[in-house]
Order: sequence, then C-alpha cells, then structure tokens
Amino acid sequence: MQTVLDTWLLTRALSVTHQPINLPNCRAAGVNVLLRRDDQLPGGNKFYKLFFNLKAAQTAGKDTLVSLGGAHSNHLHALALACKAEKLKSRMLVRGYAAAADTPTLQDVKAAGGMIEFVGHGEYRRLCQSQQVALQPNEHLIPEGAANPLGEQGASYIGRAVQQQLGTDVRHIIMAAGTGSTLAGVASGLSGATEALGVSVLKGPAGGSLYSNGQGQKPRWKMLWGFCGKGYGRPLSTAMLRFWQQFEHDNGVLLDPIYTLKMLWAINQLAKLGYWRRGDQVVAVHTGGLQGRRGFAQQPEAAR
Ligand SMILES: *Cc1c(COP(=O)(O)O)cnc(C)c1O
Repeated sequence: MQTVLDTWLLTRALSVTHQPINLPNCRAAGVNVLLRRDDQLPGGNKFYKLFFNLKAAQTAGKDTLVSLGGAHSNHLHALALACKAEKLKSRMLVRGYAAAADTPTLQDVKAAGGMIEFVGHGEYRRLCQSQQVALQPNEHLIPEGAANPLGEQGASYIGRAVQQQLGTDVRHIIMAAGTGSTLAGVASGLSGATEALGVSVLKGPAGGSLYSNGQGQKPRWKMLWGFCGKGYGRPLSTAMLRFWQQFEHDNGVLLDPIYTLKMLWAINQLAKLGYWRRGDQVVAVHTGGLQGRRGFAQQPEAAR
C-alpha cells in the first residue's frame, strides 16, 4: 500500500545521485563502480533507519527517544539531529565514562538538545542485549544502531531507489556493514538478480570464510569478511591510509575511516581477487559517517 510516508521516503531516496568513481584495480579489471551519495542526506544510512522508528514513536504519542551508542556514534549523532528537526527530545546512553568522552560527536548531540548519560561497559552490553532500559511513560527506545525491523524497512528504500534509478541489471550493490541491518533492509527492497553485499567492519568469526549468506533471504545478501584491517575503530595500516588519501584525491569524495573506507578498500581488493566480472556494474553506497571522522587520530593528510 502506498502511503504518504512511503512516497515521501522514496522521493528522498530517488533524489540521491550516483557518480562514477575511479579505483585502480577496478579500472584494470573493466569493472564500473558508481558511488551512491547517501552521505548527502542528513545522517547517511541512519536517515533511512531512523525514519520509521521516529514515526512509530510519534504515532504512540511519545516525545522522547532513547537510544544507545559509543562516544563517536553516527547513530546517536543522526538521532539527536533528527529529533531536533522533529521537535522531539532525546536521551542517549553512551558507552564509557564522561571524562574520556568529550568528543565532537557528543558536543553536537548536546548542541542539538540531546541528554547524555554515561554507562559503564558491562552495563552497556547488558542493556544492548536485554533491551531492558528503564523508560519513562513518554519515552520510546530505539535499539543501538536502529538495528530493528523498522530500521530495515527504512533501508529497503535504498534498494528500491537504486533499481528505479539505474535499472534491475545492476549486478551488485555493496555497502559497509556493522550490525548488517542496512544490508538486510537494502536486500529486501531489491527484485531480480541484483545481489546485495556487505563489507563487515568487524572481525569475523574466527577461522571464518570470506563470506556468509543471509539465511533464507530473498533476494539473498552476502556478508564479506576480512576487509576491516585491524578491526573496528582500530588504527589503519599504512596501505589503507595511503588508499584513503589516494581515493579522496582521485575522486574528490570524502570517506570516513570506520565504514566507507573499508567498503571501498574491499571493492578495490575484490577486483584484484577476480571477484567482479569484466563489464559488471557495481553500485557502492556511501552511507555517510563523515561526522565520526573528526574524532579519529589518523587523517588522510598524514599520508601525503
Ligand atoms: C552505522 C553505519 C553503517 C553500518 O550500518 P549497519 O546497519 O549497522 O550495518 C555503515 N556506514 C556508516 C557510515 C554508518 O554510520
């Protein structure tokens, strides 16, 4: 059923542009890569993941959103700004301790009117797993990363838009994955033969293979492991730092070191491994995350 919300979100998704990008190994292998600029929406992929979650809170008559994340979290950043725009309040449970966490991200959250409460690591893990956060009657909880069915529903509009804009013979759509819920959502918005790929930014299961498949998903998605360097938020190798600098120089597009850099690194590596076929059309989703780049110790300029 076509609703007002549905039309609104699809229209936003269809307004996002795609641009050809230059990756050395892809050029050599005859593979075309288009970058989908969802980073131009406020909050990148979190824009989609938060959309129906905020509507659900409003429909239930709640005026305050509660969620969890780290001190550099793109999710909390996007949530605080979205709440401000919707005239809602927000309360963030931040992993860690106040003294260590006066980050640019949390400064923005506060400036947008978000309330911040620090939670120790053990308690944080417990809250994320159990979802047993104590709430006031006017509060609505969104899980960490907005990784829930409403988040996936929002992300499905990325898949729908790509096929409406570029056709169904796009062979691959690829994105950085943390919880993998953007990936699952995008896949659920696809029809035909387009394959959804996630580049995990986390270390995979020990001794794991290059990829794992979404069970029973139709159309299927695949998670790619082994392209996260030293792991989530860890310092970059010299090779990856150089690649970051080269990419930004060649393409005039900024990347964040946690997510989108790992995706583009993977696309380039996969060309060398022969994963793509000559003539393949690959759509890479720029999921945003540039706000998080401010708090990262390494910067691409360092490789110059
Ligand atoms: C949160 C985030 C992701 C990962 O999204 P998941 O749905 O958790 O897989 C990817 N890229 C950026 C920039 C993000 O902020």
